[in-house]
Amino acid sequence: MSFYSVPIARLIEEFEKLPGIGHKTAQRLAFHVLNLQEEKVQSLANAIIDAKTKTRYCSICSNLTDIDPCGICSGMYREGSTICVVEDPKDVVAMERTREFKGLYHVLHGAISPMEGIGPEDIRIKELLARIRDGNVKEVILATNPNIEGEATAMYISKLLKPLGIKATRIAHGIPVGGDLEYADEVTLAKALEGRREI
Ligand SMILES: [Zn+2]
Repeated sequence: MSFYSVPIARLIEEFEKLPGIGHKTAQRLAFHVLNLQEEKVQSLANAIIDAKTKTRYCSICSNLTDIDPCGICSGMYREGSTICVVEDPKDVVAMERTREFKGLYHVLHGAISPMEGIGPEDIRIKELLARIRDGNVKEVILATNPNIEGEATAMYISKLLKPLGIKATRIAHGIPVGGDLEYADEVTLAKALEGRREI
């Protein structure tokens, strides 16, 4: 039995489903919402719905965007000859924060993981190959995470690129092994990018 009214209990339940939110925090957030003016609540709810409904995948790089192609793919000052391959849209944000990379991205939306039954066909590798075949790409920087899945994915892609005459490079270690790109600070990530090696 809940001590809360049904609508409040439901709100707490929804907050609890969010990552990193425990029951106590969910309660605090729910009461915070209840104390807000109605227009503030409306604005919060609209922001959530807008972010979801107005966001899609860029038809070129598969990054999250509200315009297609995304701002990076259609950017005038980006170098189309280099593509940086990352696992997740959050990694694009991390790379952009370094302000070091001027090329384009390709978001795989995952990494190869036999343990979890994720094969090459489950992530956006064929889209990457199609881009490379149509374009004037000279270098592909494999910036997948420095863990088993990320390394396996980088190796897999580099083997596909070799016969196409495309230079495949891997960002340097410096990012803690087993870590996530998105948690690396800008300086570490910029150094990892700078120290990339051909694989
Ligand atoms: Zn794009």
